Amino acid sequence: MTTARGHQVAHDVAIVGAGFSGLCMAIQLKRGGVADFVVFDKGSDVGGVWRDNVYPGCGCDVPSHLYSYSFARYSGWSRAYPKQAEILDYLHQCVRRWKLGPHLRLETEIVAAEWQPQERLWRLRDAAGSEHTARVLVCGVGQLNRPRYPSVAGREEFAGAAFHSAEWDAQWPPEAFAGKDVAVIGTGASAVQFVPEIARYAQRLYVFQRSANWVIPKYDYTFGPLARSAFRRVPGLRLAMRGFNYAVLGEALLYSAIAGSPLGRGLQKFSKRYLDKQIPDDPELRAKLTPDFPIGCKRILISDDWYPALARDNVEVVTEAVTEVTSGAVRTEDGRERDVAVLVYGTGFRATEFLAPIEIVGRGGVRLHDRWREGATAYLGMAVPEFPNMFLLYGPSTNLGHNSVVYMIESQVRYVMGWLQAARDGQVEVAEEALAAYEATIRRLLRRTAWEAGCSSWYKTADGRVVNNWPLRSFRYRMATRRPRARDFLAP
Ligand code: NAP
Repeated sequence: MTTARGHQVAHDVAIVGAGFSGLCMAIQLKRGGVADFVVFDKGSDVGGVWRDNVYPGCGCDVPSHLYSYSFARYSGWSRAYPKQAEILDYLHQCVRRWKLGPHLRLETEIVAAEWQPQERLWRLRDAAGSEHTARVLVCGVGQLNRPRYPSVAGREEFAGAAFHSAEWDAQWPPEAFAGKDVAVIGTGASAVQFVPEIARYAQRLYVFQRSANWVIPKYDYTFGPLARSAFRRVPGLRLAMRGFNYAVLGEALLYSAIAGSPLGRGLQKFSKRYLDKQIPDDPELRAKLTPDFPIGCKRILISDDWYPALARDNVEVVTEAVTEVTSGAVRTEDGRERDVAVLVYGTGFRATEFLAPIEIVGRGGVRLHDRWREGATAYLGMAVPEFPNMFLLYGPSTNLGHNSVVYMIESQVRYVMGWLQAARDGQVEVAEEALAAYEATIRRLLRRTAWEAGCSSWYKTADGRVVNNWPLRSFRYRMATRRPRARDFLAP
């Protein structure tokens, strides 16, 4: 195929990443009649984080009926909050339904992308050295795909089994922890899911907590055959479930914590009462588990079994800072060593380093990572000046702390579809002024949120700049991305 200027180009659209974002883009291209696209992924399967994270208990704390594409509502969810395998299965169903197989290029890690101004196309290089070209580049590589290990002295010296939650060793199902002394470092959204699973088996389980989190109950339950049949047959029921979870739980209740409103303060009291009720007779443990920052500052954890797991006799919550790992123990700042055979890192991801492993070079030889030295930023989280015909999905400032990110992704894909024809025919590039004005607004709005209160979180760069999150309710993002505004972009 040739471009309008007569240059050879392999594809209309190249999508990098086959997780929720990349697949959503692929499906909408297909539905929109665009046949010439490819989806690259470094993994051997689609699914992104839901392919990678297979730790015991892995699931989603967004309700099933909301954590799915609005155009592919699913009646078969087995429970109120989906588990990893079921989400992955849902994505496989979507791949089959929209016949995406022929478009997938799995085990193909894109390591570099360079804009070719003469030819007006993107030239991509994969890890094996092959080149691919496309008029439009869509990056859907996610925010949580690169595990972060703590920089603790002696980490390499540990002689037992050691792994990160996102790289769970298949040799270690929960039962394999039986009779073992185990250390878990980190107490975030991943740890709250796998700790209860392994606590049931471990001989001793030391949970090293740097900061406590606000936790609210999930009230998870299964959908029996009757409920599933109702979801399949009763018109509007899936939509109603989705709407309730989106509007009442997400936009109203959880967002109130981020906004620091009276309802949010009520949620904090509710969370404290939940802790008191779950750990009624251990004031010392309760004190350890009481956060010292307002609710919403870090991601609120949603779990029914975290506190009961920590209250077990074989579990100890250690709040002294980890200073060293030796060949068989974890040492804390008080000099104490706890001997362990297994060490699990629940220490999160390098979330602020967007697109980090990919070397992206735009117009005039500008490197994306140079532009982002002070922190990643993109117009509506999607477009970057000097990077024509490139769109990011789930990019900077588009993560949510209160609702389904799939909703944000769908807003983005719709927006990209709005620019697609112009990008395929020529060159679409956001103006510097549009990004500057947008970024100033985001900064101003962020200052009003709980994220800016005194706590550490994966939303912040090393110097404390929140770069991951969208500061308003998610429907405001939907409104902001309703249609492309030509005046924010350069004339082609
Ligand atoms: P995380 O929330 O970033 O938590 C990392 C944990 O490791 C924190 O408790 C952190 O302590 C601790 N930590 C990091 N370095 C440490 C060190 N040197 N010493 C001691 N502790 C250290 O990571 P995550 O739990 O993997 O979750 C990341 C995100 O993934 C979540 O926020 C969520 O968006 C997503 N996720 C979602 C679900 C879901 O159900 N939807 C489930 C799992 C994950 P500090 O708090 O003090 O920094």
